[in-house]
Amino acid sequence: MFGAAKEIGRSAILVEDKDTKILLDCGLKIRPKKPTEKPEGLDKYAKELQGVVISHAHFDHSGYIPGIVRAGYEGSIHMTQPTRDICEILFRDHLKIEGARFWNEEDMYNSLYQVANHYYEETFQLADGVSATFYDAGHILGSASVLLDWKGQLIFYTGDINTFETPYHDTNKYPTLEDISILISEATNGLRDLPDREVPNQALVRAIYATHKREGVTIIPTFALGRGQEIEAILAQEFINKPFNIYVDGMILKMNNVYRRYFHEYWVSKKILEWCREHRLEVPFDIPNFIPVNRNLADDLDSFRKMIVSEKKLTVVLSTSGMLEGGPIHSYLHYAAENPNNLIAISGYQVEGTVGREILDGSREITLFSWGNKKGIKIRINAEVRQFSFSGHAQRNELIKMIKAINSEKIVFVHGVEESAHHLKEDLANGAEIFIPDIRKPLVFPD
Ligand SMILES: [Zn+2]
Ligand SMILES: [Zn+2]
Repeated sequence: MFGAAKEIGRSAILVEDKDTKILLDCGLKIRPKKPTEKPEGLDKYAKELQGVVISHAHFDHSGYIPGIVRAGYEGSIHMTQPTRDICEILFRDHLKIEGARFWNEEDMYNSLYQVANHYYEETFQLADGVSATFYDAGHILGSASVLLDWKGQLIFYTGDINTFETPYHDTNKYPTLEDISILISEATNGLRDLPDREVPNQALVRAIYATHKREGVTIIPTFALGRGQEIEAILAQEFINKPFNIYVDGMILKMNNVYRRYFHEYWVSKKILEWCREHRLEVPFDIPNFIPVNRNLADDLDSFRKMIVSEKKLTVVLSTSGMLEGGPIHSYLHYAAENPNNLIAISGYQVEGTVGREILDGSREITLFSWGNKKGIKIRINAEVRQFSFSGHAQRNELIKMIKAINSEKIVFVHGVEESAHHLKEDLANGAEIFIPDIRKPLVFPD
């Protein structure tokens, strides 16, 4: 365990016996206002690995892939095809933001060259006597859980899973085999139960109507990948054929292209495909009221964004970044946050130390990024601020249900804070041995 032990970020789990070493995930930890952290102590194993398997494209699971290649790994990197395409976008973006801190452009190209693509529920070989099968994790496009058949012993790694049906994905799938011996499970939401998925969907839509009634604009800061498309789908289904303008801005547009490429029953739910077929759309974000904000619309995007939020029309803005740390959302806040009629609709979990968290905790004076002014621009928030309880992860009671159904003898909790894992441990009490590993301390299981 080189990361994601009693923490969220830099997932990297080495599974080994005396002849074989396989790495599950290879991520970087992203920290607000600080540089990224890499999995500790992993590099020295790079040349000995027989396989690397990646659950999904989120950077905390994929960001160090070029790093392990730089450290000498020359073998295959197994993932689904959408994961590969999303990784490429994230890698390029990361180089732009952080530069070649742990790896450079050449390492990135080499690692993409080493990718081997697989579909869900098709078994592939990793090493002598070791094979793997991906299961749809329902978390983001292309996300997978991994079943390892390790010389006859079955190990199931959940990656990040969503037990909710979301607009694009059904609930996560897992094998119902009787003899899984080790389950490595995420524990992100071990402390909280979430309301049924319809609750935040409807609450958001209602809040948009209420904001419009008082002549305000709704600004939705959102993550580019997954949550962004989910919210697009919720808005599309509600506002199709209604005179709402929905402006979409930032990195989310690049990710939309990948969603378009894989908008097929193999990767997204039948429900959303059928909805699009009924409305004669290729993808949900093709409804006419969606307006991508890019240079085709205006040369001076900043002024254009100002105009968008000043229009007295039915307006919703969906823009990155989701934790308000930067990106075009800062332009919108600059021009819209002071108006008490407007709504800032926070659509995801806000990490400690981010601007999003600051606002949620009640701060009403924040500093925005500005190209022209190094110190940034201070603004006052008079707009309404609300958080909607979307989550991309398994909620506590559903997670427990899944763990009980898999019924393995040993359970290892990763990708969650320590308390969260302990909480799950108390709730389970099903006789299984439960481990909450520490970083860089191996768990040893005798045969
Ligand atoms: Zn994830
Ligand atoms: Zn994650």
